[in-house]
Amino acid sequence: MDALDGNAIGGLLIDVFGAEMTATASICGTCDATRPVAELVVYRQAPGTVVRCRTCSSVLMVFVKAHGVTGVDLSGLASLSQPESALIPADGKRQPCMPNEHADKEQGRDQHVTRTVHVDVG
Ligand SMILES: [Zn+2]
Repeated sequence: MDALDGNAIGGLLIDVFGAEMTATASICGTCDATRPVAELVVYRQAPGTVVRCRTCSSVLMVFVKAHGVTGVDLSGLASLSQPESALIPADGKRQPCMPNEHADKEQGRDQHVTRTVHVDVG
């Protein structure tokens, strides 16, 4: 089975938490290893996505998508540091996460530049 890293589930995490989480520090509930979510080991398999500790291979997070709803089990984590508004969106205070695309529009009108932007949210 091919192991991915946490970057592979960046989009999934945004769907679930409403925030970019790959840079978030996770703490393994088993061995206390601390590392960014992006560096965790991710297995995409039926019936869902399993995220494991890179140090001790304990299951940290499980995402199971069914009927359009993603179920999340974070019981393997000791901690997942994040803005409090990520899990509980309060007051709509979520920071807008806008790609820096707008600045390019004004500059690019005289240029015959075909720019290929590959946005990999996964
Ligand atoms: Zn661990």
